[in-house]
Amino acid sequence: MPLVDMKDMLNHAYHHGYAIGAFDLVSLDFLHGIITAAERTRAPVILSLAESHFEYFDFELVMPAVETAAKRASVPVAIHLDHGASLASAVTAISHGCNGVMVDASHEPLSNNIQSTRAVVDMAHACGVPVEGELGYVPGVEGEDAERHPGEVAYTTAEEARTYGDQTGVDFLAISIGTVHGHMKGKPKLDFRRLKQINETLDIPLVIHGGTGLSDDQYRQLIANGVAKINYYTALSDAAAKKINENTAADAGSSYTGLVKDIRTVVAAEAERCMHLWGAAGRADEVLSNCRPWMPVEHLIIYNVHGIGKADAEAMIAEGRQVLAAIPGVREVFTGESVQNNTKYRYTWLVRFCHPAVIDSYREHPDHVAFANNQFRPVAGERISIDYQTVAPGTSHIEHSINREAIQ
Ligand SMILES: [Zn+2]
Repeated sequence: MPLVDMKDMLNHAYHHGYAIGAFDLVSLDFLHGIITAAERTRAPVILSLAESHFEYFDFELVMPAVETAAKRASVPVAIHLDHGASLASAVTAISHGCNGVMVDASHEPLSNNIQSTRAVVDMAHACGVPVEGELGYVPGVEGEDAERHPGEVAYTTAEEARTYGDQTGVDFLAISIGTVHGHMKGKPKLDFRRLKQINETLDIPLVIHGGTGLSDDQYRQLIANGVAKINYYTALSDAAAKKINENTAADAGSSYTGLVKDIRTVVAAEAERCMHLWGAAGRADEVLSNCRPWMPVEHLIIYNVHGIGKADAEAMIAEGRQVLAAIPGVREVFTGESVQNNTKYRYTWLVRFCHPAVIDSYREHPDHVAFANNQFRPVAGERISIDYQTVAPGTSHIEHSINREAIQ
């Protein structure tokens, strides 16, 4: 059960003095390389998907592969939306399997940043999903030269961090203390005094974006002062690009598969180096035994329809499928009719929630309440509703199991 609660995971790192890599992946080779590194070093890992990269791959197509990689891993994994642009981005990410989301409204004035972030926190917490906020401004775009994206570093202050933390309820905070996304000119100068103040003020896991190019000693000081998550992409991208150039120069450059040969190997090597450097290597078993597993819930309803014809019943079901699938925390909605004619219950809903928290937030969601009261309950006579915590194939036991039954 290697998908674990990301808040538990980062709290473990925060309280045990190490940092977990959140590696942005842009292809299956990156995914493979990152997971391989985590397995080899026995490190917890965050598979990170940056919204700014969605123009290079189809998020919806990639997520099933990311989830499969997480489920078959023997080390703890979390799946994170990096730099989500809006509340809608966060809802979509959760419905496709992310169990951590970042909202980045750091370019907005503080009061707007607080407001946008608070909305995401309310939605995500109702889905059991933790949220990373960002305060201050880290210039640049993942993997590009920072000089191409001008803008001064806007440093996070401890005072703003307190206000922001109190008013948004974020679980982790990305701060700006001198790093930039992508490559930078010269050596990065980090403001550790400021970091120490922020850490003492907030006492939650801190996040550094723009981790590429820092010295070993700078990493050690970051981690000693509360940084528990390090976002890392540029160096992986550099290693992959260098490999492609080598392949081009060599005979291997004559075909696509020749060009991308061994990308996963060089990505794995760089990620592995980081896992050792940041102290995450060797922590997998501790994290697995101390963190809650991330498990979905199947919400099952079986029922009969009274007082309307088959066409109206089908219209009601189609409408419900659409309405319910859009509720935050809902992964999938199946509807069905029994194959045999003589069954006690003719129809079914099977709604998959990402997390047990959704049992309550779904029931209270205005769209669910309106559909249930106006369209479903008036025609659904006998019905049984049960929430099952389900176990993926290959998993040997259920932890923290819930099984709530209600015959309405
Ligand atoms: Zn970033």
